[in-house]
Amino acid sequence: MAVSATVAVAGAGLAGLSAAWELSGAGATVVVLDAGRRSGGVVVTELRDGFVVEAGPDGFLAAEPDIQELAREAGIGGRLVDQLTSGSSLWTGRRMEPLAEGQAAALLGIQGVTQSAMDCGFRSFATGMADLVEALVARVGPAIRPAQGVTGLAPATRGWRLSLGGGSTLEAEAVILALPAWVAARLVAAAGVPAARRLDDVIYYPTTTVSLAYRGDQLATPLAGTGFVSAGEWAGVVRACSYSWLKYPGRAPPGHALLRAFVGPLDDGPAAAAHAELASILGIKGLPLWSRAFTWPRGLPRYKPGHAGHVAAVRERLARLPPLAIAGAGFDGAGVSACVKSGRAAARQVMERLGRA
Ligand SMILES: Cc1cc2nc3c(=O)[nH]c(=O)nc-3n(C[C@H](O)[C@H](O)[C@H](O)COP(=O)(O)OP(=O)(O)OC[C@H]3O[C@@H](n4cnc5c(N)ncnc54)[C@H](O)[C@@H]3O)c2cc1C
Repeated sequence: MAVSATVAVAGAGLAGLSAAWELSGAGATVVVLDAGRRSGGVVVTELRDGFVVEAGPDGFLAAEPDIQELAREAGIGGRLVDQLTSGSSLWTGRRMEPLAEGQAAALLGIQGVTQSAMDCGFRSFATGMADLVEALVARVGPAIRPAQGVTGLAPATRGWRLSLGGGSTLEAEAVILALPAWVAARLVAAAGVPAARRLDDVIYYPTTTVSLAYRGDQLATPLAGTGFVSAGEWAGVVRACSYSWLKYPGRAPPGHALLRAFVGPLDDGPAAAAHAELASILGIKGLPLWSRAFTWPRGLPRYKPGHAGHVAAVRERLARLPPLAIAGAGFDGAGVSACVKSGRAAARQVMERLGRA
């Protein structure tokens, strides 16, 4: 059975939720379709025994306004928290050496971070990044349809017809694809923009984050700073490690420590491998109280040269079709604040095209 909606947003990650927030604020009828069962995309926060465990992003640059403006609009401006400590180190395989601010991001291949933005430090939310997702879902939640992946997109008499997993369809006057680049590339190409296949050039690197909880007295030497990076010839299993409980307030109960390691692809046992390596680097005694690993087969996106030009060319073609916009980390920057900005901009653009701005 086909039902109609004014604007369909595909993807309930931060970009899609931000678009839906903007659209519902502008009075549009919105339907948010996500292939998964929960909202937030790669934003996943788990609360366990008084610890705050982040599976995906754990913060954002304090210099980035968009995510903070949205948080304030959503009524959780008071939940923004500042980074408690600064400075990171390079593990040379023998000892820790201090890194200049910004060097850690460069070593990890994080794109688009300027030195002046790094100088302003980082922020997060009191009980983790999911605070923002929850605040957005509180308003747009009724519009969200989980486990409804978009499998096809075709022009309809008035707007677009979306094919959904399970064989149903949905018609919408406008569509925002806030999807990973490889998914959006296929849908947009099939909808009549062959050039969109190039959007699939975005490389999503696999990564696993392992959070490990310890008693404070298990750490032989006191740690300082936000963590360390282990790159190049010294890289072992652990590529980088955040001292999460030193970085942001409230990440571990008093007298406890929470580490978060980024590890590369491993056949099995990322938590045991991360603990063994961290125990040797940081002098940790005994086993962790518990550990939690999350694997992202396609994690942080990285753009190839020419990316911005491809995205602009696709957007130019989309302007000739019924209102259809692309948004999110695959196109406009991988950071959470860039995703918020991208989602809201897409929403404003389709409202303008619908003559409702
Ligand atoms: C491990 C990790 C750590 C990170 N750390 C940071 C950090 O500290 N700071 C920072 O700023 N950024 C960080 N990032 C990057 C940032 O979190 C992401 O780039 C951003 O959250 C992506 O948001 P998005 O909405 O564009 O995409 P996603 O969160 O990927 O959302 C896309 C949504 O689309 C859905 N979907 C997929 N296919 C379909 C389909 N066919 N139909 C419908 N729905 C579909 C998915 O289920 C998902 O919910 C990190 C990312 C990772 C993976």
